[in-house]
Amino acid sequence: MALIVMKFGGSSVGDAERMKRVANRVVQTKREGHQCVVVVSAMGDTTDDLIDLANQLTEQAPAREMDMLLSTGEQVSVALLSMAIQQFGEQAVSFTGWQAGIHTEEVHSKARITDIQPARIHRALEGGSIVIVAGFQGMTASGEITTLGRGGSDTTAVALAAAIEADVCEIFTDVDGIYSTDPRIVKVARKLQEISYDEMLELANLGAAVLHPRAVEYAKHYNVKLVVRSSFNQNPGTLVKEEATMEQGIVVSGIAYDKNVARISLLGVPDKPGQLATVFGALATEQIDVDLIVQSGVIGGLADFSFTVSLGDLQKALQVIEAIKPKVEFRAATSETDLVKISIVGAGMVSNPGVAAKMFETISALGISIQLVSTSEIKVSCVIDIARQNDVVRALHTAYGLDTSEQAFVGGPQDRR
Ligand code: ASP
Ligand code: MG
Repeated sequence: MALIVMKFGGSSVGDAERMKRVANRVVQTKREGHQCVVVVSAMGDTTDDLIDLANQLTEQAPAREMDMLLSTGEQVSVALLSMAIQQFGEQAVSFTGWQAGIHTEEVHSKARITDIQPARIHRALEGGSIVIVAGFQGMTASGEITTLGRGGSDTTAVALAAAIEADVCEIFTDVDGIYSTDPRIVKVARKLQEISYDEMLELANLGAAVLHPRAVEYAKHYNVKLVVRSSFNQNPGTLVKEEATMEQGIVVSGIAYDKNVARISLLGVPDKPGQLATVFGALATEQIDVDLIVQSGVIGGLADFSFTVSLGDLQKALQVIEAIKPKVEFRAATSETDLVKISIVGAGMVSNPGVAAKMFETISALGISIQLVSTSEIKVSCVIDIARQNDVVRALHTAYGLDTSEQAFVGGPQDRR
């Protein structure tokens, strides 16, 4: 008998029919002799719809009320799923995040879980129930309801799995597992049997929406055995673990893309110490995350530099830059959108020189110029014109030997984004 955490995303419980299918799957697992804790997201687009509603009433919704509102989506799901399971003749009980003992820091809209007290879950399991927990929510020490950030139900599932020492945490979604890249772009993308936490974390941070980055962080930290698999079939999925077995000759495991980038360039910046510190210090004070940074050579005592921020931060970043103009004395600031950041990720890169060079060659062979680059031990990212995104993803997929002969399974609507 195993203790299993099963997480189902919004599209897997999108309507009553799908809810029944999930209930059936959970019941089958229980009848195989396992104990099941189920975490669910809000049905379909519920969270987006609730946000739209709030936006019709106010321009800047109070964060506390927003959490009160958004946490209701998952509560609908748990209650309905519990009913559906009971229809199959099994015992089930639904819990909100706080009933499940999930405590968070005192921050609204993207709170971190501080601690989980799962006594009530254990009691219910021992009584023979299937336990269903609302994802994406918790409660602060002062009794306020919080949410964990968009896509946060993955985090709930992994954190719960760690807290109750589950044997495995299964993330059910609408694709068969983790693919070498988005199968909607590359029909011959391959499903990975295994991937390491580190690679998965890079891919999740770099735009692969299958798993929430924070959930992967938790899994790594608590060494939770994580499986990503389809809620629509019985295929085995992808195992995420400490060290993945590397396939012969494959140095790149995955290719991710992220359209949420804007580039800002500062032109004619007088070359003197402390300039970068002033610019990035001012941006940091405003909580603006800067990603890639490049500085050109100095000509006539003046340098240019460029960096990227998320699209949502662009206007605010430009205001910050304008405000520090008198201090930094740059000649002009420009910005550009319609960009995409394409990244290759693979633990095998460390020991294989020439991986980055191949990326640059492949992109330039398409006649595309690379605007910014950044690298780490296990990834290389290039920012390019968004119009060429699919060409580049496909060419890289082929160049790194990732194409399979079979056509990849392409699931239904994505669980998020
Ligand atoms: N319902 C929340 C969202 O849509 C949490 C989740 O789906 O994981 O972001
Ligand atoms: Mg959702």
